[in-house]
Amino acid sequence: MAEKRHKEDPVQQELGSKLSQVGTHDPANDSLFATMARVEHDLNDVTEALALLGVKRCSQCRKFFRCADPGALFDCSQLVCYGCIPDWWSSLSMRLGVTDRERIEGKLASWLRKHHRAEVVKATSGTVPDITNAEFQIAARCQECAGSGKLMEGERCRFCNGLGTVRIVVPK
Ligand SMILES: [Zn+2]
Ligand SMILES: [Zn+2]
Repeated sequence: MAEKRHKEDPVQQELGSKLSQVGTHDPANDSLFATMARVEHDLNDVTEALALLGVKRCSQCRKFFRCADPGALFDCSQLVCYGCIPDWWSSLSMRLGVTDRERIEGKLASWLRKHHRAEVVKATSGTVPDITNAEFQIAARCQECAGSGKLMEGERCRFCNGLGTVRIVVPK
């Protein structure tokens, strides 16, 4: 096992030699890389300038949006436009740990309620939720009982039917 670790992966080796060939033996590629780097640098400058003007970019679809519209981009270390939220959240939420997921989920839920008329809907166990009138929905921890399903007095939380989670439904 230890021996194996010291050996280089043949694919890595192949890739490594290809890269060094590109880097050292082909001047045409060298200048192409330099051009690409410059274009990328210029583009970053333009993106920064646009941010100064109040235009920011969605990290997913790369479209630009006006920051004056608070419902356009959701901000949680990366910017995500409203249209990209469903796909972005379903893939991100699976990769996050519980703490991070609940933090962003709470922020997302209140953003959707504030700017996109989203409603908190009780989750009902055993029945399939009716989503015909929903643009999309996310599951979120119940704010009222902090996900425990119980209220202070130990009674079943009436906001989530004691399930600890609710659905945040964005209407069409
Ligand atoms: Zn987007
Ligand atoms: Zn609750």
